[in-house]
Amino acid sequence: MLTTRAAVVEAPGAPFVVQDVVLDDVRAGEVLVEVVAAGLCHTDLGVQAGGIPFALPGILGHEGAGVVVEVGPGVDRVARGDKVLLSYTSCGRCANCRGGHPAYCATWVPDNLVTGVRRDGTATVRRSGGQGGDTRLGGHFFGQSSFAAHAIVDERSLVKVPDDAPLEVLAPLGCGVQTGFGTVWNVLDPAPGSTLAVFGAGAVGLAAVMAAKLLPLAAVIAVDLVPERLTLAAELGATHTADASTDDVAKVVADVTDGRGVDAAIDTTAVPAVVRSAIDLLAVRGTCAVVGAPPAGTEAAFDVQGLLPGKRVVGVTLGDGEPETLLPQLVDLHRRGLLPLERLVRHYALEELDAAAADMHAGRTVKPVVRLG
Ligand SMILES: [Zn+2]
Ligand SMILES: [Zn+2]
Repeated sequence: MLTTRAAVVEAPGAPFVVQDVVLDDVRAGEVLVEVVAAGLCHTDLGVQAGGIPFALPGILGHEGAGVVVEVGPGVDRVARGDKVLLSYTSCGRCANCRGGHPAYCATWVPDNLVTGVRRDGTATVRRSGGQGGDTRLGGHFFGQSSFAAHAIVDERSLVKVPDDAPLEVLAPLGCGVQTGFGTVWNVLDPAPGSTLAVFGAGAVGLAAVMAAKLLPLAAVIAVDLVPERLTLAAELGATHTADASTDDVAKVVADVTDGRGVDAAIDTTAVPAVVRSAIDLLAVRGTCAVVGAPPAGTEAAFDVQGLLPGKRVVGVTLGDGEPETLLPQLVDLHRRGLLPLERLVRHYALEELDAAAADMHAGRTVKPVVRLG
């Protein structure tokens, strides 16, 4: 057992409060990681707001990066001292895991969200106690709960990276960046010369823009409401931008595509009207990938007849990425200067998570990353 610092959310709508917590001993298939950095993602804030199910009070954080301190029985993919990026966990045995699609694992939702405990029902973390009372805390979030100085991590959430990998910059690879790159490369797989529209130029959308820049596309259109984000999108590879608060997005798309619409679209906003717009602006046989996570029960309308010309709409989790395959590729792209993640990241202390969230909502920061230690 180890006492460490963690940011705890007490209840839906409550702030992050840093306090001492006690980690359980490392078990088979687990690794104790000293967390160096962890990105803040909208899914953390969705849980904090109560729109995504998770056991609160609990510890969030699912874009961790750190150094292996202790390896549990049976773990041979990493050793003490290895640098690791943390991503989502999966069972490794169901049909989708075996087929190379662990983001669609049969037990993805309970293992990454909801329960806050291990698959056998035991807790990875508890309150330090001392005042008596209930010491239960939700942990095991995405197999990691990395808004903490140390985390007990599922083996399948771990990806080993080179010793010179800059963890403080690369932490967001595990969710947001993987989602953007994976959605473009794995799911949409746009043909050379085709067109792509990215709705929402936050971390996921800008990752999609960077992924698209590495492909020979005719046009990449970024759509957002924050002028600074659109400027950044253009610098990172968008060939065109549209400010939805002042521009007629349909006209921009029509102008860029000679009236055909885009061959592929990504909605990162999870705003129903934007999802509708992304579908409406598709070309014949175009595909719209929906990657944002709104509160459960959110519905969006579409014109049924409008879909008939071969349009597709597909929901995507984590870019349908297999972390041990995709993350090392992204680390290598960063090393070669082709994935300038520094442009998106601003660093905060663990105590500043609520301020970081406010900066993200206001468009002042694209990707907050907390630094531990
Ligand atoms: Zn599985
Ligand atoms: Zn995320």
